[in-house]
Amino acid sequence: MQRLADTCDAIGGTPRRSEKVRLLAEYLAGAGVEDAAAAALLLSGRVFAAHEETTLQVGGALLWRVIGEAAGVTDTTLAAAYRRHGDLGAAAEEVLPARRGGAPPLALVGAQLRRVAAARGPATKAALVRELLEQAAPREAKYLVKIMTGDLRIGLRESLVEEAIAKAYGAPIAAVQRADMLLGDVAETVRLAAAGRLGEARMRLMHPIGFMLASPAEDAAEAALSFPAAQVEDKYDGIRAQAHVGHDEVKLFSRTLDDVTGAFPELTAPLAALPAGVILDGEIVAWSEQADDGTGRALPFAALQRRLGRKSVSTALLREVPVAYVAFDVLYAGGRLLIDEPLRARAAALHALLAAPARTPSRRAVEPSGQLAFPGLVAPAPRAPGPHGRVIRAAVRRAASAAELEALFEDALGRGNEGLMVKDLDGVYTPGRRGRLWLKLKRELATLDVVVTAVEYGHGKRHEVLSDYTFAVRDGERLVNVGKAYSGLTDAEIAGMTDWFLGHTAADHGFLREVEPRIVLEVAFNAVMRSDRHESGYTLRFPRILRLRPDKLPSEIDGIERVRALFDQQHARRPR
Ligand code: AMP
Repeated sequence: MQRLADTCDAIGGTPRRSEKVRLLAEYLAGAGVEDAAAAALLLSGRVFAAHEETTLQVGGALLWRVIGEAAGVTDTTLAAAYRRHGDLGAAAEEVLPARRGGAPPLALVGAQLRRVAAARGPATKAALVRELLEQAAPREAKYLVKIMTGDLRIGLRESLVEEAIAKAYGAPIAAVQRADMLLGDVAETVRLAAAGRLGEARMRLMHPIGFMLASPAEDAAEAALSFPAAQVEDKYDGIRAQAHVGHDEVKLFSRTLDDVTGAFPELTAPLAALPAGVILDGEIVAWSEQADDGTGRALPFAALQRRLGRKSVSTALLREVPVAYVAFDVLYAGGRLLIDEPLRARAAALHALLAAPARTPSRRAVEPSGQLAFPGLVAPAPRAPGPHGRVIRAAVRRAASAAELEALFEDALGRGNEGLMVKDLDGVYTPGRRGRLWLKLKRELATLDVVVTAVEYGHGKRHEVLSDYTFAVRDGERLVNVGKAYSGLTDAEIAGMTDWFLGHTAADHGFLREVEPRIVLEVAFNAVMRSDRHESGYTLRFPRILRLRPDKLPSEIDGIERVRALFDQQHARRPR
């Protein structure tokens, strides 16, 4: 652990990417394989592998309390240290006493973190965290705390960790990236790289891989001109999900790679009726059977909201808000990985899959939790199209010009969808990457995905709830505030968020609480303005919260570059 803390200090101390990679590669090459595997995982900002369901469930408030106790300092002293550094890890380093010995080896730190995750209740968790911090030297504690808060702030990303692995074990970077993408486990990637067996990495069913992301298109003209041949689909307003269909198991994973199967039980049976050994990409949407043409239609996101954030659903809610899985891509089928095939081939494969007769799934496949919870829903919904009930192929359209695309866009809005997705028919599937092979066309001038950094009590009837949110975008490793919004969420959402913020306050300044930067919002606004009020140098005019985005990670929010570009665009458009 001590060598790792030294390496982290050195990596954090240099702004140069290549130097960060060199330092980490040197550490990995000099460590045993298991230590290197554990370090690679922790330094890519995770405590557990991406495909694992385990989470630490240790909030800032708990860490704050444990640090105070372990150091034997008052809240005021800790708050002063926190204000000096703006980082809980660095504050811990300052207040914790020097100790002999030091933290246990990394692999044991990993085991203790697993115990913390498994422990139930804050008191047990706190005792285990305290044990860990009390064995550590202050500098080690600094990184343990940073690891636990999920925010290392030393300028490393998983892509740099991959480069370091390639360098440490003399492997081609492409082989490391591919293995890591397929395995969803950087520690396992290290083990294979160290053994010279990266080529053996295989896609595994029930282990999600990263989602391909889209870039915004300015307008129909830009989208129409981007590809020689494009596939146009509606942009459905739901939540993204990767469906894994095995012989006797079906799983749905969210964009954050969490298993959300239990929340959508009516999708299990129709998915299980697909040929076994399939991975689909698609959108879970609220579904209405009452469409004009008798085929059903997707409803806007607001309708789906009641189904979100639940591990299981009541039968009543299942009836009130039915969902469908709208599939738009296939990543794996018939024992073959399809991500390197062009979209035209994947689209044909998807079509064939969804047109195939339904398989009779094994009993286990439709009973993920071991019980037949919703017997009435195992049969496909009778009025939905195709042999797979509520698993529906996203309609595919073509447009030869900007005008045709414009018309499709209006039709999509007419169907209640968010806009269009325009995809390069020759494009491969790039997991975890936001590229220009998929373009999204939406109506709003612009929206930004931001993270809440501070909250305040509201006014009037909202004086007892934390309803005023200050939010930030990313500027490299830092977060910089760009605005403050007061409205947009329902009273129930505000009440729920208030509880969360009270439990995840990093610093309480009385009138204002700095909170853990984890709540992602999508905000709309009328314009970007220059401002001295925020560190970013910008502020948003009339910001309003469109919705909470629990499906997005703080690492996925927009960057200051996008704010700058939007600002510049406004000026470019002004008549001279
Ligand atoms: P955004 O969340 O605004 O960045 O837009 C991208 C998201 O649109 C994807 O992550 C999907 O969840 C969603 N989406 C809806 N329909 C489609 C579609 N036909 N193809 C790809 N993504 C879609």
